[in-house]
Amino acid sequence: MDNEENKTAGKIESLVIFKCNCRCVMCSTGLQIDRSLNNDSYQSIRPYKDIIKDIDKAVKMGAKGFAFSGGEATLRKDLPLLIRYARISGLDHIEVQSNGKMYVYEAYCRKLIKAGANNFVISFHSCQENIQDKIMGVPGTYKQAVQGMKNLNSLLNSPNGCESPASGGGVKLSIRSSITPKTQ
Ligand code: SF4
Repeated sequence: MDNEENKTAGKIESLVIFKCNCRCVMCSTGLQIDRSLNNDSYQSIRPYKDIIKDIDKAVKMGAKGFAFSGGEATLRKDLPLLIRYARISGLDHIEVQSNGKMYVYEAYCRKLIKAGANNFVISFHSCQENIQDKIMGVPGTYKQAVQGMKNLNSLLNSPNGCESPASGGGVKLSIRSSITPKTQ
């Protein structure tokens, strides 16, 4: 196992929300997302204390990392607080999985990095705008995600950008792609 693999070994992934501002054709949590629509009684945002329990459990299991997944994790208003908790709990790899739409707001990117997020994984399925938006089911997603990646990238590469307190300031941006019949 090389250093990189060691860093991400034992990562625990937590589904923190079943709401999303996209409607991807291949979404594995789509059923829960649809149940949450116009249904206030459906628990589409997991309680804060439950996520804290997930983080505590990850630490107890000796995990090196924790990933906030969903649904769309950035739709949780308390995400920076949860990231901070994971950070002070001693987890090295703190990952946010997202469609990237919220990263169009640079101040928001800065907030997550300052809280301790050091791995940003963005769903990005095509370099063609119309295909990406078709796969993700919402027009404008491509433009927002591209601007979001530019924002993150400039923060990560700027000497005066904000450093994550986790892992000595090393912050990574990566994309995750799915191949679908609509992919080109
Ligand atoms: S961005 Fe993720 S959670 Fe949202 S619809 Fe697409 S696959 Fe599902």
